[in-house]
Amino acid sequence: MKILFVASEASPYVTSGGLGGVVGTLPKALSRAGHDVKVCIPLYRQIDRAKHGIESTGAHCVHMGKGEIWCGRARCEHGDGVEAWFVEHGEMFDRAGVYDEGGNAYPDNLGRFAYLSKAAQQFCKDTNWIPDVVHAHDWPTAPAVVFRKTWDAWYSPLEKTATVLTIHNIGYQGTGEKGVLDFMGIGPEHFTPEKFEDYGRVNFLKAGIHFADCITTVSPTHAQEIRTPEGGKGLAMYLNDRSWDLFGILNGIDYRDFDSATDKLLPAHFTADDLSGKAECKRALQERMGLWQDPARCVIGLVSRFVSGKGLDLVQGMMERALREMHVQAVFLGSGDPAFHAYLADLQVRFPGQVANWIGYDEALAHQIYAGSDLYLMPSGYEPCGLSQLYAMRYGSLPVVRRTGGLADTVWNYQEWDGGGTGFVFDEYRAESLYYTLGWAVSTYFDRRHHFVEMQKRAMAPVFSWERTVPEYEKVYEHALRRVRG
Ligand code: ADP
Repeated sequence: MKILFVASEASPYVTSGGLGGVVGTLPKALSRAGHDVKVCIPLYRQIDRAKHGIESTGAHCVHMGKGEIWCGRARCEHGDGVEAWFVEHGEMFDRAGVYDEGGNAYPDNLGRFAYLSKAAQQFCKDTNWIPDVVHAHDWPTAPAVVFRKTWDAWYSPLEKTATVLTIHNIGYQGTGEKGVLDFMGIGPEHFTPEKFEDYGRVNFLKAGIHFADCITTVSPTHAQEIRTPEGGKGLAMYLNDRSWDLFGILNGIDYRDFDSATDKLLPAHFTADDLSGKAECKRALQERMGLWQDPARCVIGLVSRFVSGKGLDLVQGMMERALREMHVQAVFLGSGDPAFHAYLADLQVRFPGQVANWIGYDEALAHQIYAGSDLYLMPSGYEPCGLSQLYAMRYGSLPVVRRTGGLADTVWNYQEWDGGGTGFVFDEYRAESLYYTLGWAVSTYFDRRHHFVEMQKRAMAPVFSWERTVPEYEKVYEHALRRVRG
């Protein structure tokens, strides 16, 4: 099958969270399974052309509502036989930020990503590489689905191409002024409540849900959650209308990038059979972060975007008490909410040697935290899939999570009677629940050590690989193709 991934980010070029990780790795797994896959993202200023060997290949004329807008196409080898394409347009993508600057979203974001979506399909036509499936991701490239069903509905090389839309985070829907439809060349007949219209504005994700042949989200539990009024964030009704074409497929990870036995970003290596290197990772993390170098402390890690939904208010509600009462240290890495930055700075001052934080995005440090910590906090309010807990488990750091979305599907709660489990799970979204569950985890670390070590070994098994989920995507692609081709 020929499959085009079109997305606003992809690792290793540019990534701000799970979306980029998935778009960077799933195409390679599909390619290894025998498919012909390309990935198309914008050529942002942040992308290091030299490092990735990105070269410009030509210019393309993209037809938008108000006329032609030309762009360049750059390319590089993405790996495992996948080719990466980049939409080169200085005014739209050569900017200081990807989505925003200083927390302020660019006002023309809807137009920028609609253009990306259309340019990607233009590349296919111009190079005569006609995909069987266009796979779009989240609101930024939901317009790819819309364009295929409007501009490219008839007399187009793409008229037999099926579309799949993956919802990574339903909290972001791409809403804005309806004038963008003129820019896109989408007629007013599509500005209706079941397509684009949303309280007088446009909603890209909603239109994508209407037009896509299949919709997926990133875990089976989340596929149920988004069909409820609370979890659907206003779109439950539209998703329920599409329930026959809605699938929940768990994200995978590329275990080659996260292998504690070989990871070059780690100071020492370890395996499930020999965890001794993990102690050195812990010592090195304590040293790097200015924590007391105490092997006996239970180290708690947290790597996250500091945004609502990640359960940071719960952390704020209990961390001080945990630091006073438990024999623990805490390491935080992330950025986002300035109030949480201030909270962490204050915590670090009040608990020197016991708390360390680093504000920013640092991949190496993220790996070192996964490997050097004993427990990993992820008390999310909602979590479509979550990758961090998978990385943490892979590196023998047991996750403490709330039972929601992909966390419910990937973390097996500790069974104190026989030592089963791969982490510690709580239900209620309350600081006390997190506090007591963390306490349970810490007491297991100290008092039921044999269980803790068995759980680490179990958690490290490479269970959540893309190889496991590729057949599920293949089924979805076939389902989408049947809808288009009969
Ligand atoms: P989300 O997609 O909601 O951000 P996920 O858990 O699915 O959450 O994915 C987060 C990914 O981003 C993980 O790979 C995590 O390691 C990485 N990440 C998040 N924040 C940082 C950071 N500050 N530095 C390095 N990596 C980070």
